[in-house]
Amino acid sequence: MKKRWYEEIKEHQPNYDELLNTYDWSIMRFKVLRRDKFKCSKCGHTNSSRFLHVHHTEYIKGLLPWEYDTEFLITLCDECHADEHGLENPQISFRKGLSEYIKSLNIQI
Ligand SMILES: [Zn+2]
Ligand SMILES: [Zn+2]
Repeated sequence: MKKRWYEEIKEHQPNYDELLNTYDWSIMRFKVLRRDKFKCSKCGHTNSSRFLHVHHTEYIKGLLPWEYDTEFLITLCDECHADEHGLENPQISFRKGLSEYIKSLNIQI
């Protein structure tokens, strides 16, 4: 029997970075950016001056990044996002720090 796509994801256990490189996430991300008018919800910086991220305000065990309701997602610039996760120097440590942060939350998908 052919495996469903989500069974495949669960079996291969991709890391969080890989999940954010999917088509599904890019669609969800764009939806949230558009809702927030391509502006950081905290400081108001736009995508022309700072890189924008879409942040999960809460992590729910068992949900893939794009399976959340949009009310759990907000647009943040890289600096506010790093701040939100307690990371210094977003340019260097962001990806690595975030992966570790996610790991520390003990999320399993
Ligand atoms: Zn900001
Ligand atoms: Zn975040």
